[in-house]
Amino acid sequence: MSEAPILEETDRTTGRDALRKNIQAAIALAGAVRSTLGPKGLDKLLVDDEGRSMVTNDGITVLESAKVEHPIAHMLISASATQDQTVRDGTTTTVLLAAEWLQNAWHLVVQGVHPATIARGYRIAEQFCRDAMPELCVEASKEQILAATKTSLAGKLHTQMQSVIANCAVTAAETIAMGSKGKIVADPTRVKVVTRNGPTIDESNLITGLALSKKRAHRDMPSTLGAGSILLVDGGLELRSMSTDVKLNVTSTEVLQSFRDAEHERLLKQVEKLSELGINVLACREGIDDAMHSHLVKAGIQSFRRVAKSDLELLARGCGALLVPSIHQARENDVGVFIKSYCERWGDSEQWILEADEGGATFVATGSTETVVSEVERCFADALGVACKLMESPKLVPGGGATYIALARRLRRFAETVPGREQLAIEAFADGLETVPRVLAENAGMDPIDTLLQIVSLQSTQNDDSIGLNVITRVPENMIECEVVEPSRVLEQAISGACEASVAVLRIDDVLWARQEISVPEDVQASLDGTAPDRR
Ligand code: ADP
Ligand code: MG
Repeated sequence: MSEAPILEETDRTTGRDALRKNIQAAIALAGAVRSTLGPKGLDKLLVDDEGRSMVTNDGITVLESAKVEHPIAHMLISASATQDQTVRDGTTTTVLLAAEWLQNAWHLVVQGVHPATIARGYRIAEQFCRDAMPELCVEASKEQILAATKTSLAGKLHTQMQSVIANCAVTAAETIAMGSKGKIVADPTRVKVVTRNGPTIDESNLITGLALSKKRAHRDMPSTLGAGSILLVDGGLELRSMSTDVKLNVTSTEVLQSFRDAEHERLLKQVEKLSELGINVLACREGIDDAMHSHLVKAGIQSFRRVAKSDLELLARGCGALLVPSIHQARENDVGVFIKSYCERWGDSEQWILEADEGGATFVATGSTETVVSEVERCFADALGVACKLMESPKLVPGGGATYIALARRLRRFAETVPGREQLAIEAFADGLETVPRVLAENAGMDPIDTLLQIVSLQSTQNDDSIGLNVITRVPENMIECEVVEPSRVLEQAISGACEASVAVLRIDDVLWARQEISVPEDVQASLDGTAPDRR
């Protein structure tokens, strides 16, 4: 039977051929980030189509900026992006694991094992790892939370900077961690990040409270206030604009004047209302009329205008205030409280800093160039994410490949008990887990096979699952003792995300590509044809 007309404009690959091509795409993608894994991983220079460049060691940053067109590569990138969103680390690992499992699956397919059997075996192995993980976890102490946050920064920036950022991230996470319904919740969105070009990178620091790049409305307003009350307005203290809000029938100039007086009176009443409510600080999303400045000064109210809505929301959460649409609608319950509110000059910008009970924290990312500042910002966001997750669930596993090797050893023993062909897939899964220590060794310039064998035998003879490769000292060590530890959730998510992605690829046996018209710009076509004018 001839192919259905619907497939006329479509290229099709099926069966084994489709699987082979898909696996090749996955391996090619993993090849792009393989060399960045671990503290000895190298950086990538990324240049976009507008010529902007960025140097990074972060797997997901490399993957997301690559112009990848293959749909399978997209599947792996989205597994890595999920990893980034849920646990903020382990993005390179996810891609490496998925590609390795696919490659190992291919070897089995060639030997005649059906992809569906392999997928089943992989799922059994993944569940086994999930069940085995609690045995390998340790409850984190405060120092270990700091160590794990530092490990998550391995290979990024320089060592001293890693300590600064890890310290700031852990302190910030502690500041915002709160008990809620018997659980600890640490929401990283309560931490604000501001950037500052100019000073050197080492001046990045954390300040208690929220810092907003704002100047008080008038310099005679108090610059520093002790504990007091704050009102947050999702509007302004302004005259109503004639064109939009009111209809006036002007018959004489007095009408206009009396309208203006009435408006002025209306604003004055609002200032009075602020005093009645005992407000010390006012922050508005819209403007504050110049004519009101002197009245606010007289009332001793520190006022800020044009504050972004997102900042108002952060302030509201920190001070226990409610955002009101206008001052005259404000009630006592809407008012929040703060511990300290002060203005400070940073270089050439004015900052308003507000400290409150649950006021969060602000990280000031500094650096000599924009590229450096954004790398500091990205690293802090990742470190903060890891620190917050650790506040919520302080469970750690040894890093440096130790846990992957420990899981692989257990899996191999378990595979022996599985009678069907799934046994082969479980063994292939165990081999795949070992790709992490192998690549760590490779990137440190060590022999991956010898190193792996050495660690496996040490773990087994010393009965110690924490032995992994310390790439700094270049010898196998107890990773908990040398403080290379990772949140267990990072590994759990990396293993399950990568397994999910590889099983999804194994289940595909038919690929239909819509044929695309590729348009080539005229000058490029001319140079390809050799008919371009010689520009020399
Ligand atoms: P990912 O994007 O997957 O997080 P990284 O480049 O951050 O990749 O590398 C993470 C890996 O580096 C983890 O497996 C971690 O255990 C390992 N690692 C970090 N520090 C060390 C160290 N000093 N020695 C060995 N391995 C380390
Ligand atoms: Mg990492």
